[in-house]
Amino acid sequence: MRRTLYLKFLLAYLIFGIFGFVIVATFVSRMTQDYLIRTESDRLYSEATQVANTFAADLYNNETSLDSAKKQLDALRVYTNAHLWIINPSGRMILSTEQPVDVEKETIVEGFDPTAAGNSHYVIGRFFNYFDSDHLSVLSPITSDFKLKGYVVIHYPMRNIETERESLLAIDYLMLVILFLLSLIILIFFTDIVYIPINKITKATEQYAAGNFHYELQMDSDDEIGYLGVMAAYMAQEIARQEDDQKRFVANVSHDFRSPLTSIKGYLEAMMDGTIPPEDHEKYLGIVLNETERLRKLTNGLLTLNNLNTAGMLLDITVFDINEVIRSVAAAFEGTCRSKKIAIELILTDEKFYVSADVEKIKQVLYNLVDNAIKFSHNDSVIRIETSEKKSKVFVSVKDSGIGIPKDALNQIFDRFYKSDLSRGKDKKGTGLGLAITREIIRAHGENINVISTEGIGSEFIFSLPVADVNDPDEEEV
Ligand code: ADP
Repeated sequence: MRRTLYLKFLLAYLIFGIFGFVIVATFVSRMTQDYLIRTESDRLYSEATQVANTFAADLYNNETSLDSAKKQLDALRVYTNAHLWIINPSGRMILSTEQPVDVEKETIVEGFDPTAAGNSHYVIGRFFNYFDSDHLSVLSPITSDFKLKGYVVIHYPMRNIETERESLLAIDYLMLVILFLLSLIILIFFTDIVYIPINKITKATEQYAAGNFHYELQMDSDDEIGYLGVMAAYMAQEIARQEDDQKRFVANVSHDFRSPLTSIKGYLEAMMDGTIPPEDHEKYLGIVLNETERLRKLTNGLLTLNNLNTAGMLLDITVFDINEVIRSVAAAFEGTCRSKKIAIELILTDEKFYVSADVEKIKQVLYNLVDNAIKFSHNDSVIRIETSEKKSKVFVSVKDSGIGIPKDALNQIFDRFYKSDLSRGKDKKGTGLGLAITREIIRAHGENINVISTEGIGSEFIFSLPVADVNDPDEEEV
């Protein structure tokens, strides 16, 4: 493939050269010849007319002698570089620059027909077979007393015109060669600007296709091809990253499924072979049940995440009062809060605060955040849920004064399966999927979620939602 592009360009270059040559050899050559004939015939015709009006007319009026007319004709022969004749309408030659004056010897041009030129004032040919080679001949009538007496004819050898044309064409050919050589610069530019960078990109994409995503593609140009290269490298990086994510994901899933399965298997085997006596069965069956519950939560979480990721999320957007949703979620945790002596404080702006979002999904977000806040809070503490408005957005904050999140873990808590070491002791049942699901939901709404946390002090999660464009909608849905 790589060679072909270059060959194609070389071929185009050669075709350009050949076409140039053919055009000069045909069209340009013909145009030059036509031009030379036109200018030469114009020049000779004006000479002939001048002769016809001066001494040629005098000759017929007997105002000058043959010898003196011949002298003037000969002088003009040198100047025009052509043969000059004075000829009668019948074809009898009176004077010719080629022959001495000889009244005895009569020269007749057989078949002489002055109308042969038609509308044109010149003819090209052997002039009624008088010459052996082609001549450009112009005729100008000689009149005296309003009568046609004869013609002044000037013959210019076509050989001369052809020689002139060849010397002019030589210049054209020279220009063509110079142009052809100059256009080599385009070939050099093409190599440098197109061929080499494309070659680089091709090599890199071959490496990427073979799975070597870490192949380094160095692009120097900042034009479209350079951009293409940068994008190809970026694409490879993204594929590599996704591949790594995929591997990590599978490793995490396997790990999180294996530990509950191992403990379930261990307890069941111990019960069956009698290692655990029947009186303890109930206690261990309780543990097995807990583990299966964890597996169920894991499976549900994975399914939810998968649904959220595929085909962008299908949101059922309605207008609802976010304050109402917060109150109902807080109420759902009353029991848990009571046992941990945790208070949930609601600081809600306005009585009703309408947002447009998917109410069920937002409930899930709040549920995850409050659940985490309770899980990671110390007994006898307060969790604060607050709403505020800024630039047509509602900001919902869930703040606790619990264990907090270590600085280096802050940018990982939204990753799937991430659980900080601190939380592992406090929350054995956690799947590490809650915040990943939460972030996907908020992103699907085109909004953001952020966290501010200090280890040992507490954490605050804040997410935004769009304020609904109504004051008190009828279709309130909570
Ligand atoms: P899980 O379902 O295990 O709680 P999440 O995705 O909800 O998983 O949370 C991931 C991790 O983020 C938790 O294991 C914990 O380490 C940290 N985390 C989340 N919320 C809080 C919080 N309010 N306080 C301290 N750590 C938190």
